[in-house]
Amino acid sequence: MSSDFYTYQAQTSPHPLGVEVSHARGCFIYDTQNNAYLDFVAGVSATPLGHNHPKIVNAIKAQLDKHLHVMVYGEYIQKSAVDLCKLLAKNLPAPLEKTYLTNSGTEATEGALKLAKRVTGRSEIIAAVNAYHGNTMGSMSVMGYEERKQAFRPLLPNTNFISFNHEDDLKHITSKTACVILETIQGGAGFIEPKNEYLKKVSQRCKEVGALLILDEIQTGIGRTGTLFGFENYNCIPDIIVSGKALGGGLPIGAFTASSAHMDLLMDKPKLGHITTFGGHPLIAASALATLKEVLESDVMPQALEKEILIRKTLVHPLIKEIRGKGLMLALMMVSESVANALILKCHEEKLILFWLLFEPTAVRITPPLTITNAEILKGCKLILNILDTLEA
Ligand code: PMP
Repeated sequence: MSSDFYTYQAQTSPHPLGVEVSHARGCFIYDTQNNAYLDFVAGVSATPLGHNHPKIVNAIKAQLDKHLHVMVYGEYIQKSAVDLCKLLAKNLPAPLEKTYLTNSGTEATEGALKLAKRVTGRSEIIAAVNAYHGNTMGSMSVMGYEERKQAFRPLLPNTNFISFNHEDDLKHITSKTACVILETIQGGAGFIEPKNEYLKKVSQRCKEVGALLILDEIQTGIGRTGTLFGFENYNCIPDIIVSGKALGGGLPIGAFTASSAHMDLLMDKPKLGHITTFGGHPLIAASALATLKEVLESDVMPQALEKEILIRKTLVHPLIKEIRGKGLMLALMMVSESVANALILKCHEEKLILFWLLFEPTAVRITPPLTITNAEILKGCKLILNILDTLEA
């Protein structure tokens, strides 16, 4: 079976972790030898309620019995998708009220960029150094990491970059700018939080020059930082938010949300401004709706902040320079890249799942399911500390 994986399924790197998955429940993934892996990664922030949460599974099964795909996005009224968009609107501040559901995070980024161009009639897009917003051509154009996009040029023209948290760069946002797109907390860059009201200042600058602010909440969204969306922590309301990952509760999704006045422009001149066959798929929307309800109705959001404190208090070690991030979006900043690699690989051997960040080689990702228990956190942290004791700087 594993040789078929390498032979027939396209690979993204020469050294995949290669766990042969049997099943997954709660905070554990089981391989075909019935080893239980404690999950500190949650499918890269995509399973907020752990694996196969009964409420999500039941919602999917109920939808399965009714219907699957029936029509392209936007033509028919499908209850799970409508209810999902409505629940998002109810939990977002004005003017974020209308949501377009897509198939993935990167497609939602594409939709948001197109919407900003359509609203402003401008073409310049500004993004941040070390930003990640997805891997299709438009999203890759706003990826702030040249090494990973060089081979795919030419990309979108008129995309420019500013440094995250550098207020001096705000002058580059001008009346030629259609939009500024930022991650609320920079993910691939090393879980870098906005400082000194940075997002508010970007938002003010955008308003001054008539540009839109897009916040990418694909990783920060759906409770991970202790609030439903990350921007709620930073005193700033964007014009468009992009979400994905955790919203699907374990199924693939993306979404972009804006004011009705803006979003309605995608219907006209040209009509069909963004179209997709499977976006808003009823099964996925049912899963997302159940996920969103549970995140809102349970105590996982306040608990994420308590669990952050527990992790920060427990993971004290000379090889950990700093812990960055917020809630259960945390990155251990190790003293070196080799320590980060050794920690991830040795933990993997001991059946604890950790992972890398895209662009910061000294970082180790800790983004467990929000439902992880304190006992599970302590078990994983103890293993991390034991392994660090065997490593050298
Ligand atoms: N933006 C951010 C901040 C992300 O973390 C990701 C996924 N890692 C994406 C966009 C792209 O989402 P997807 O992989 O679903 O296209």
